[in-house]
Amino acid sequence: MIKQAVLIRYNNKERSEIFKTILEKEKTSTEKSYYIYSKNILNNRLSHLKELFPDNALHAIAIKTQNEPRVLSHIVNKGFGLEAASFEEVMLAKKAGCPAEKIVFDSPVKTQEEINYCNEHFKGLLLNVNCFSELERIKKAKNLKIGIRINPLVDTGAPGIYNVSNNRSKFGIPINQKEIIIKYALAIDNVYALHVHAGSEIGKLEGHIEAIKRIYEIAEEINARQKNKIKILDIGGGFSAKMEEGIQQGLEDFVNLLESKCPNIFFNYKIITEYGRFVHAHAAFVASRVEYVLDYTEAPIALIHVGADLFPREIYSTHPPYHQISVVSPEGNLKEKGNKKYDIGGPLCFSGDFLRRDVELPEIQEKDWIIIADCGANTLSMWSGHCSREKVKLVFI
Ligand SMILES: *Cc1c(COP(=O)(O)O)cnc(C)c1O
Repeated sequence: MIKQAVLIRYNNKERSEIFKTILEKEKTSTEKSYYIYSKNILNNRLSHLKELFPDNALHAIAIKTQNEPRVLSHIVNKGFGLEAASFEEVMLAKKAGCPAEKIVFDSPVKTQEEINYCNEHFKGLLLNVNCFSELERIKKAKNLKIGIRINPLVDTGAPGIYNVSNNRSKFGIPINQKEIIIKYALAIDNVYALHVHAGSEIGKLEGHIEAIKRIYEIAEEINARQKNKIKILDIGGGFSAKMEEGIQQGLEDFVNLLESKCPNIFFNYKIITEYGRFVHAHAAFVASRVEYVLDYTEAPIALIHVGADLFPREIYSTHPPYHQISVVSPEGNLKEKGNKKYDIGGPLCFSGDFLRRDVELPEIQEKDWIIIADCGANTLSMWSGHCSREKVKLVFI
């Protein structure tokens, strides 16, 4: 059994103290919102991954979760890799100084030109193929390492080759095509890897491990036919981050269960991971100035300077990620007393632009700051240009 690591995380008090020091430095600034990203927390998550997995594992952090160039360079400088969800992200990885052997390219719509370009300029990059047609397109890409992304169909009962109703995902070749997958893997020299990314914010540990186990078993089957054919298992990301107050659990249980269900997985294969949310979510928080408080509405509305532009998932999706919210004074002191129900509205000219409704907070006044916790994942990288507002100012601490 592995010792549980301590994963650091800020609480409301700490966030307000950090913000206060920023405000002191920015005294003359008229900035409306700050996006504050903490290297400490990022480092803490990265070291956790390093300690938990074998030394030769590659942790390719998902760029789509957080694409700020300074953050990407920091990750690369620490020796970690990057996972690109598009050709553009491959170029971002390059700009961040990431060597080709530490880039994983995972787009579902790679063009022939993009594949050729990578083959020419990114020798040693791992390209995970998403569908059979793509396997035809990579046949001449001899400089790349090729992986095959497999859809593990974990929740389907009886998958059959004609049973398309259980199979509507656009990601990966469904595992019920196993024999064809194996044929391709054996026929193409540079297929070294199998890939599974079972989803994001996976709640069920057992299901997550089962998804990986199914891919591991195919790798074992291929290797039984041709020794050492599959050398890499890319197990994707998907581990969630706790958004309520409290302790973030590490990946210890995940790794223990993985090793017990997939014997020798860490000895027989080089492991690649692609964590996004788990690495970044806690690393940033946002402070946005209260411009107006409307007190004639059913619940008073505090209007701030970020909304669906910085938080598209929170505002447009039916299962919005939760964020803790707190209030600090214009000087940056945490307001702790009193509770009143507020709606927190964003700056955009459309009526759905509310970050939260009915949130109990201390009395809010104009020029106070609303602090939104745990914004490191899928916020800045999803910036929406609706209403053409300026991007938030990023402070790297
Ligand atoms: C989004 C994505 C990730 C990161 O997912 P998290 O849930 O944030 O860990 C990793 N791999 C692939 C292929 C992805 O699409």
